[in-house]
Amino acid sequence: MIPSLIAHARKILIKIGSNTLADREGRINHTFLEEFAAQAAALITSGKQLVIVSSGAQVAGLSTLGKWTRKQDIHYKQALCAVGQVELMGAWAAAFTPHGLHIAQILLTRDDFGDSIRTLNMRNTLFTLVDEGIIPIINENDTVSVEEIKIGDNDTLAAQSAVLWSADLLILFSDIDGLYDKNPKEYPDAEPVREVQDLAQIRTQISIGGTNNFGTGGIATKLDAAQRAVSYGIPMILAHGGRPRALEALAAGTQQGTTFPVQSLR
Ligand code: ADP
Repeated sequence: MIPSLIAHARKILIKIGSNTLADREGRINHTFLEEFAAQAAALITSGKQLVIVSSGAQVAGLSTLGKWTRKQDIHYKQALCAVGQVELMGAWAAAFTPHGLHIAQILLTRDDFGDSIRTLNMRNTLFTLVDEGIIPIINENDTVSVEEIKIGDNDTLAAQSAVLWSADLLILFSDIDGLYDKNPKEYPDAEPVREVQDLAQIRTQISIGGTNNFGTGGIATKLDAAQRAVSYGIPMILAHGGRPRALEALAAGTQQGTTFPVQSLR
């Protein structure tokens, strides 16, 4: 199922969660970025188009400054993201440069998706960048996003961006191998759900646990993202981004994940 979803998709949007981008010490995981960039480059060479939604600004900010870990004040959090976003994009640029690929930064807020002129501009810019072989890397614009106007989690941002760009496939890379009937971090006997047949029904069949260290949305926002994507005819895959050469392994069928096919919305 996963190999055929990837094989049949030309426009792929991949969201990478904070925990996939960070190493154990909470710094940007450069090895992951390099490995991901190599696989992404191969995907592009094979004729596919790629847009990335990248979390990790706060993580990058913390490791760059080495302070403000415990600051709860919103302005400090926003300041951290402002510092970290530069580091994050620098790391992405360094990862893609050896493959002769340029990246572009796109920072969005919830308001941008509610305004038809902004939406059109975003769409046109995305199409132009991708057509020119440049990889757009999207994140929430934390500097201007206070609670009231926040998208709040990058799963939602990824689904909204996938719809905006009319992607063929949405892949969420997390630190988990897919959806389980309960949180596998708390329950070792949790059973994986390999394919979601019915999105509404699955919500009643699984229990939703907490998020991990740097995570924001958890599994609830991933289900919401699937609902949004699938309702626009875009299938979704939830998989572990930190596994060795995860993108290639998924395409080859040697790595498992959870698929949310378009039929899962009944
Ligand atoms: P990310 O930064 O990748 O978006 P999150 O922390 O937001 O990650 O969400 C992933 C986490 O959700 C997993 O690490 C897992 O511990 C937790 N989780 C809670 N309930 C479930 C469930 N039923 N199935 C899978 N993961 C779950």
